[in-house]
This record gives sequence, structure tokens and C-alpha cells, in this order.
Amino acid sequence: MRALLSRRDFLTQSAVASCALAASASAAEDMSKVVPAFLVVDFHTHLDNSTIEDVLRLSEERKVKFGIVEHAGTKENKYPVVLSNDEELSAYIASLEGKPVYKGIQAEWTDWMSCFSRDVLARLDYVLTDMMTWPGANGQRQKMWEPGLDVGDPATFTDRYVDFYVNNMELMPIDVLANVSWLPEPFARDYDALWTEARVGKVVDAAVRHSIAIEISSGFNLPKIAWLKQAKAAGVKFSFGSNGRYPKMGLLDHSLAMARELTLTQDDLFTPIEGKKAVQRRL
Ligand SMILES: [Zn+2]
Repeated sequence: MRALLSRRDFLTQSAVASCALAASASAAEDMSKVVPAFLVVDFHTHLDNSTIEDVLRLSEERKVKFGIVEHAGTKENKYPVVLSNDEELSAYIASLEGKPVYKGIQAEWTDWMSCFSRDVLARLDYVLTDMMTWPGANGQRQKMWEPGLDVGDPATFTDRYVDFYVNNMELMPIDVLANVSWLPEPFARDYDALWTEARVGKVVDAAVRHSIAIEISSGFNLPKIAWLKQAKAAGVKFSFGSNGRYPKMGLLDHSLAMARELTLTQDDLFTPIEGKKAVQRRL
């Protein structure tokens, strides 16, 4: 582990050095026009209300590759489309076959793995999920962004929320954790106080332990920079995501601004690798 980290530190230092050179060469240029040192992918786009043809046109226009995610899990999860068995998942995968997109699912709740066989899941490029649906007062799934959330005391809530993150990251074969660090309305204003270094550390450690990428969300402009710096220092990989529906896909200004601030290179970014996908490593 130590050897790995020092190699990573070396690579990061080299990247910082080359970025510094590039910055001084173009000091007068608008930083937003500097071509990033990596392939720009929006790994969090939804096909709702659009066709794949429209989406591909947009991808070309915006020079952003798209990863498409369809909601997946039991039919108790309520979304316009929820893939719930091998047949539905296979048809979805087939519909994207040969198209220049990554094929993913947004896994729902904690029992989604029971809906599918490993073989069919492994034909996806990646599995993404978030922690915004959690066990409410009676243990039933509850979308935290909908009314009626009983959150109680902020510190107790956040400790329970962090445990929910870590437990799911331990149990689920996921590649990308999306909408990370989002807090429900009553607590969003206390973000800095609630996301202490210790709480961030628990999530970040689980991400490193299981090679789970952390999404830098341009949908929510989260996680905030201190959170991201702690994750980067620990060796976490990142992905970019808009959580966009057509035509709001591939709009990654915030993700790219954070990537510049963190001097991310291709090596810091998530890329699906055949044979090393989470369902292949962990199921
Ligand atoms: Zn989503």
C-alpha cells in the first residue's frame, strides 16, 4: 500500500509540474478554454424523454462522451423505467450495443443485486448508485428529497447517514457513487460543519478499499472542494456527472472546474475496465 501511494504521489507531482508549465505558457488565456488533460465523460445521464439518436447528436456537439444509466432494482422503486430482471436488462443493453456510449445502470435500494444474474450485469460497463433513498422511520425505502422526511438531530442523522454509505459500499458491487455528500434540505446549510474530516474519512476509506469512484456532480455542485481534496489525498478515483436528462446532458462546468482545482489527470479518473468491473471483482 505504501509503495502504491508513493508512486501515486510521484505521478501527482509530475502532473502538477506539467500543469504549472502549461498554465504559465497560457497565463493570459481564459482557463475554461484550456483543453483538459483527459477524456471528458458524463457518466450520469438519463435517457428519459429522449431517443438515443438525439442523445448521440448532443454528445458530438458538446464533445462529451456519455455514460447512460437506467434505474434498476425491484418494481417497488418508482421511476419512469425500472429494469427489474435479466430480460429487461438484456434488452436495455442490446438497445445501446454498438453506440459510442458507456452502458450503465443506476442501482436502486439495497436489494437490486437479487434481480439480476452476474453474467448479465457483467455486460454493463458500470454500476452507479447514490445514497439518497434510505431507510425511513419504519425501515421502508424513503426518497430523502421528497416531503415528509423525519431527520431528527443533525449530528445523529449524519452519523447514521455515513454508516448507511459505508454499509452499502461494503455490500454492493458498485463502480461509481453519485450525488455524494448531498444533505436533505434542513441540513444542507450546515454542510461544512456536518461533513467533518472524520465522517468524510469513513466514506473515502470505503471508496479506496473497494475501488469505488466518487462522482463530482455538476447537477448538485457536490462534493465541496475540501471533501474532494481529502478524497484525492486518499487516492480515490473520480467521475463527472450531470444527472442530466435531454438536453441538459454533458453540462459539466462545475466538475471540470473542480478537476482543474484538483489538477486531476486521466490517472485520477474512473474508466470501465473489462475484467475489473465491480460486478466482476465482487460478485
Ligand atoms: Zn440519476
